[in-house]
Amino acid sequence: CGIVGYIGQKDTKEILLNGLEKLEYRGYDSAGIATLNNDGVKVSKVKGRIASLREAVDANVKATMGIGHTRWATHGAPSVENAHPHQSASDRFTIVHNGVIENYVDIRDEYLAGVELQSETDTEIIVQLIEILHNELKDVEAAFRKAVQLLSGSYAIALIDREDAERIYVAKNKSPLLIGLGDDFNVVASDSMAALHVTDKFLELMDKETVVLKREGVEIKDPEGNLITREPFTAELDA
Ligand code: GLU
Repeated sequence: CGIVGYIGQKDTKEILLNGLEKLEYRGYDSAGIATLNNDGVKVSKVKGRIASLREAVDANVKATMGIGHTRWATHGAPSVENAHPHQSASDRFTIVHNGVIENYVDIRDEYLAGVELQSETDTEIIVQLIEILHNELKDVEAAFRKAVQLLSGSYAIALIDREDAERIYVAKNKSPLLIGLGDDFNVVASDSMAALHVTDKFLELMDKETVVLKREGVEIKDPEGNLITREPFTAELDA
């Protein structure tokens, strides 16, 4: 029921856990984070509270980018296996998702024959689809954009690629998602509450746009892949 992502200079797990704590009021049944550094992707997930996730996260892992999630189960029972982040068959791609993919059965049948699914979620279909499309297109951003075009339903998604610690891929459709801007970092969150501890400057996203978040900037593209410029707004904090 909540998403947070960070790419910057600081210890990511702490920023993600703090962000998820700020989203706790929305309700959830499980939670998880994935961080990426030179040693690869590290996924931690639990059924239950952020406090238990905090204990499950390896304090020794130092990373400066990652994604986090609180889940409100819609497809598949609340469990560690169904908790997000979810990974593709080769573990190359890792995703968090809020919402419901209405055509996940069609996508599974049309694109994912032979893929052994590891969860009961509609979410896993997205990350497996991205891997299949990437095998074909050989370009992560193109595969991400194509996947977004194929999905119907509501979603806010954030994706990381094990081979590239410089980018987080983001998109939304009928689910809330905002980009938060910093000087040497950028964040993504389903709710400004999850990011107000790091920035008050935000960019609004439109449905089916695709966004690449880097440490030094943010690229928003329309569904055809054309670059879009958009002015940030400053969030007002209630006193
Ligand atoms: N439909 C997804 C699931 O059941 C995401 C639910 C959510 O928004 O937390 O895992």
